[in-house]
Amino acid sequence: SDGLDRVRALIPAIPDFPQPGIVFRDLFPVFRDPKALEALSAHLTTHLLNLPTDVDVIVGIDARGFLLGPLLAARVGASFVPVRKRGKLPGDVVRTSYAKEYGLDEVEIQKDAIKAGQNVVVLDDLIATGGSAKAAGELVRMIGGNIIEYLFVIELEALAGRDVLDAPVYAPIVY
Ligand code: IMP
Repeated sequence: SDGLDRVRALIPAIPDFPQPGIVFRDLFPVFRDPKALEALSAHLTTHLLNLPTDVDVIVGIDARGFLLGPLLAARVGASFVPVRKRGKLPGDVVRTSYAKEYGLDEVEIQKDAIKAGQNVVVLDDLIATGGSAKAAGELVRMIGGNIIEYLFVIELEALAGRDVLDAPVYAPIVY
């Protein structure tokens, strides 16, 4: 094993969070364990370095995409760019919206954060329905980025989120 067993063992399923009926997968216990964090980082770094295309930019999704994003970017020699909820980023931004369970969410990216044609990996901790990753991907394309992959730590397979995304999806831990 490359240490992912240690990571898997540290991801609890929390019933009825944040609402009754939802089973929440929590990645923060992995961040408390240096060996597990190193194993996860090393696994994802190897994966990124083995992609057929060099990664220019890692785009992290608000908020847990900001945890592993800069760490992996530094390890693979890419830049890190955040997608944030509306109103948080200064300067010129582009915006899109997507339907959540209750109402719309609006997300933004800084216009000058990606150069046309740069190769981008969109990163988040977990994919459920795929709605937030899809919106982040739209923003990347609006400013000229070329998405080579959507990367997650955890995939909730039953929700089929990968089916709404139009580039390859990688997630080492699947429930
Ligand atoms: P989606 O947009 O439906 O794919 O939901 C994914 C987003 O919601 C990500 O930003 C996740 O961080 C968050 N999320 C949804 N379910 C969970 C969960 O069980 N654990 C942690 N985050 C979750």
